[in-house]
Amino acid sequence: GSSLPTKIESREAAEEFMNKYDSFLFDCDGVLWLGNYLLPNIRETLAMLKSRGKKLYFVTNNSTKSRAAYMKKFASFDIPVSQDQIFTSSYAAALYVSGHIGLVPGRDKVWVFGESGIIDELKLMGYDTLGGKDPLLDIPFDPETSPFLVNGLDPDVKCVLAGLDTNVNYHRMSVTLQYLQKPGVAFVATNLDSTLPLKGVILPGAGTTISSLVTASGREPIACGKPNLNMLRSIIDATNLDTSRTCMVGDRLNTDIKFGTDGMLGTLLVLTGIETEENALNPNSELPRPMYYSKGLSMLYELTND
Ligand code: PLP
Ligand code: CA
Repeated sequence: GSSLPTKIESREAAEEFMNKYDSFLFDCDGVLWLGNYLLPNIRETLAMLKSRGKKLYFVTNNSTKSRAAYMKKFASFDIPVSQDQIFTSSYAAALYVSGHIGLVPGRDKVWVFGESGIIDELKLMGYDTLGGKDPLLDIPFDPETSPFLVNGLDPDVKCVLAGLDTNVNYHRMSVTLQYLQKPGVAFVATNLDSTLPLKGVILPGAGTTISSLVTASGREPIACGKPNLNMLRSIIDATNLDTSRTCMVGDRLNTDIKFGTDGMLGTLLVLTGIETEENALNPNSELPRPMYYSKGLSMLYELTND
């Protein structure tokens, strides 16, 4: 965007904003909650939007969890959702492997550099996976003793799928690199978020762990999460979303707001996560400005609740 964003800080602005949209795509961490802490009045805000007939969808770049695991997370906060409202980068990546790369379930396998969310979504689509949390990958790496090299690479592996791996180590990187060097093996990532804010500290995000593979292989992955519009296309296909009446709500400019802007959606940046008011008004030159911003998502409820 080029014009200055509108700050939602009055009842009129909140009503006008809500009247413009029938559907909302919510980023999760930094918008609804921070880790395991549900932000104040979020349950009430979502209930209010639902009571106004709005369609609510949840779009997260977190690949470590499956949609089923997200269902549990919403339930733990007492927020009613169904699985068809949830879109994770692990699911987006599994859809990409199936729809765009065309891997055949039961025949082609996926080498996973990442966690159970990815494996669970691939399994649901019928793919066999290797790698991931395999404890044999916890053994110090030696090319002459690693079972993955000694027994030979699996010729059925046709794709490396990489996401945040909090168990990243030299053995995992080394075997993944062997697959990336094979012709015909695709390189797909769930997301490339550089950082991951958690419990008040900034941690390395998926993009950081995946960049080790990029450096070693000289290859760039296709990233399936926000801001990749393939994820939006999957959401549109699954929900019949009218993009002209949809707003993306997020806390990060280079993922959420870029996703919404590129996808021709409305955009609302909330300041409960990554970005500051300064960033909202004057983002780095290559980043889009949001159309709206507010202190938090709950402002929609707090400004309009009698
Ligand atoms: N990646 C990981 C591993 C995370 O744990 C999180 C936040 O929980 C994210 C990405 C960012 O998620 P979101 O897109 O919901 O902000
Ligand atoms: Ca976020």
